[in-house]
Amino acid sequence: MDVNEWKTERRTTRQISVGDVPVGGMAPVTVQSMTTTKTADVEGTLQQIYALAASGCDIVRCTCNELEAAEGLAQIVPRSPIPVIADIHHQYKMALAAMEAGVHGLRLNPGNIRKPEHIKAVASEARDRNLPIRIGVNAGSLDPKLYEKYGGATPEAMVESAQQEIAYFHDVDFDLIKISVKASSVPLMVEAYRQLADVTDYPLHLGVTEAGPPPAGLVKATAGIATLLMEGIGDTIRYSLTADPVEEAKAGRQLLEALGLRERKNVDLIACPSCGRAEVDVIEVANKAMEAFGERKLPLQVAVMGCVVNGPGEAREADLGIAAGNKRGHLFVKGRNIAVVPEDEMVDALVEWAEFINEHGIEA
Ligand code: SF4
Repeated sequence: MDVNEWKTERRTTRQISVGDVPVGGMAPVTVQSMTTTKTADVEGTLQQIYALAASGCDIVRCTCNELEAAEGLAQIVPRSPIPVIADIHHQYKMALAAMEAGVHGLRLNPGNIRKPEHIKAVASEARDRNLPIRIGVNAGSLDPKLYEKYGGATPEAMVESAQQEIAYFHDVDFDLIKISVKASSVPLMVEAYRQLADVTDYPLHLGVTEAGPPPAGLVKATAGIATLLMEGIGDTIRYSLTADPVEEAKAGRQLLEALGLRERKNVDLIACPSCGRAEVDVIEVANKAMEAFGERKLPLQVAVMGCVVNGPGEAREADLGIAAGNKRGHLFVKGRNIAVVPEDEMVDALVEWAEFINEHGIEA
């Protein structure tokens, strides 16, 4: 069986473009995040956007909650290295102001912009400007009528909320749509997205909302997003962490690389968890190696293994690896055992060889 078969069986979706970034169809799954600065603080917001872009974020969202935010967006958008989406709640006029400011897309919450004439006014303007809108359903801010009808924020209620919004959009011939049905409960969001995927072919934006601080937030977000991606569902993702948004972007990027959905940019460190058999301090060597590799763009697999049980096998399979023996380790480069390195020189040797392989390339 081809273990990567699921990747070619991704759900077929329509493609839209957020600025110059395609979402849906067979486009690569993209990473999104959201700034935490006041959008009126142009320089502060741009600094965060630059940091996000450098960490693997493809599309950024900024709140547009007041006129000053829309004015900020007018200055942020032309200087942003990645497309900017305005996040709109409650005030449909903020959506119109954000479009006037030049954003590349909108997120509307159907739970708190409910008047059909307001929704259609925004969709008509987006249609004329050829801008996409995400229908961002959230279990925590569902339309009270749907909440009552279904006795709570159920998957069915969330899907109906999205479908109602789609119908308003279709009334004005607008179809540059992507959709999210986020919840803080992983089983609820997974089921809502599954049901949504059955009834629409618009691209889906995945997320576990309010996942909380890492590490628990990372686990929750990964549980929900990865489950769906492995089922072929999902075109763009966001980790909603109570943390610096750069952590969200890094996590999103790492997940997509781990699943083979995006090309690797940084080192993929394979390290054993260590145990009583370990003959070097694997935890220290692995942590120091990760620190030394830092943000360097080295798309390589590097193994740090504590003893001969699995060490030689993993080190040989990786681009570069250490299989430890007694206070020293065998250094493998592209499958070849080329040297014996003392424990205190392992990290330097790994970094040097990683740079060398990256620059010169070595055939396995
Ligand atoms: Fe333990 Fe060796 Fe396995 Fe590492 S590779 S976990 S040291 S048995």
